[in-house]
Amino acid sequence: MSIVNRAIFWFRNNLRIHDNPAFAKALEESDEVIPLYLFEDREWNTTNPRRINHFRGRFILQSLQCLQESIESMGGNLILRRGKAEEIIPAIAQEYGANTCYLENGFAYEETSSEQRLSELIHTKAYEGATLLHLDDLPFELADSPKVFTKFRKKVEENLAIRSCCQLPRKFNFLKPKKPEIPPLSHFFEETESITHTDIYRFLGGEKAADQRLQEWIWNKKGISTYKETRNHLFGSDFSSRFSPWLAQGCLSPRRIYEEIKAFERKHGSNQSTYWLFFELLWRDFFYFIARKWGPGLFQRYGTNQDKPNSPKLSDEAESFEKWKLGRTNDDFVNANMNELRHTGWMSNRGRQNVASYLIHDLGVDWRKGAQWFEENLIDYDPCSNYGNWLYLSGFGNDPRPDRKFNTQKQAEFYDPDGRYRKFWNQ
Ligand code: FAD
Repeated sequence: MSIVNRAIFWFRNNLRIHDNPAFAKALEESDEVIPLYLFEDREWNTTNPRRINHFRGRFILQSLQCLQESIESMGGNLILRRGKAEEIIPAIAQEYGANTCYLENGFAYEETSSEQRLSELIHTKAYEGATLLHLDDLPFELADSPKVFTKFRKKVEENLAIRSCCQLPRKFNFLKPKKPEIPPLSHFFEETESITHTDIYRFLGGEKAADQRLQEWIWNKKGISTYKETRNHLFGSDFSSRFSPWLAQGCLSPRRIYEEIKAFERKHGSNQSTYWLFFELLWRDFFYFIARKWGPGLFQRYGTNQDKPNSPKLSDEAESFEKWKLGRTNDDFVNANMNELRHTGWMSNRGRQNVASYLIHDLGVDWRKGAQWFEENLIDYDPCSNYGNWLYLSGFGNDPRPDRKFNTQKQAEFYDPDGRYRKFWNQ
């Protein structure tokens, strides 16, 4: 009697079929694969302090719907469970007679710790897949990776090695459990309606919608060819790519974007803007690798700094934070951005820099409170980009300038000269 080599594939923040190295490996090496998604307790904590709201929740549920349809068309079905990976996955392995769990490596501390605990309970095989650059192709050891972005980028660009998108094997089999019911949003959240005011925030989860956005923004609208000039705008749907929600859930791979940039450059020529999209993807990689390297340090107020400054004690920290959250500070530019976030789950990069700087440097609030608020509210939240950027702005991360304080009034005059953005979001 032949023994069936059955494996679980745990979909994490890689909700896609294309360019998914860990998934391809699972299909290639196993007789039967059982695809699984876990509503992990730590992420789907919807009670106070909650870590996700309905904007991202809805996006993930849509992404799961899309993933289920793709897997079904390939002959399988997703299993959906809620709980802790280290409790659920060994139990599923036992139930279905699986001997291995394949997964994509995480980067932030909670993810890597959870992998570690799981690997003590079941045989796991984990692969890289979230970044543009493969860890093994970096021109330095992770422990020696430069602390400052410019050094990181220069070293990487001198030795640029970007792998092609990976293909699925030709033959594979799934174990096909019963078709899952994707739970409705109301299963997790009381508030399910959004007040979007405009139609520019219709992010639809899933790799099909990601593909459409890629096609639309790069090829149809050619947003990439003017990106460097427009990327700091505040209003509209096309001044930047808006790939971030799909990247964060892994509906879109950074290498897929890179291949598309290169194809666009071959057809229409390269310019500073086409390069700049690649440049921003390097920022993303930078924060991912920093997260892997720093572990819990990314979430500490002073990062990995040993010398803690004597921060002034601010008696009204709680009140300042509440005002900031609700867009009720004395600064109408900050308020407009915070209102946009609350009503849509979205904020531009320029806005994020300003509101973060204001909270840290003008209101004197612990940056981690702001980062947690972003974690709950951003549709594109990812731990590495979020905590990495916040820590950077706090001056205890990877910024060579320790006091990166934005003059929010000057920024408002420059980026919103006619006050249209402030008027719209402060009404
Ligand atoms: P584009 O300008 O089109 O850039 C293309 C892609 O490059 C983005 O989708 C993103 O993946 C990457 N990128 C661009 N800028 C950055 C950056 N500064 N850091 C890391 N990656 C970058 N981005 C997130 O994806 N998730 C977060 O949780 C997040 N939190 C942030 C918190 C703060 C305080 C700040 C200042 C920035 C944060 N960013 C975060 C980075 C950046 O603001 C968003 O990636 C960007 O605004 C998303 O819009 P876009 O896709 O149109 O970006």
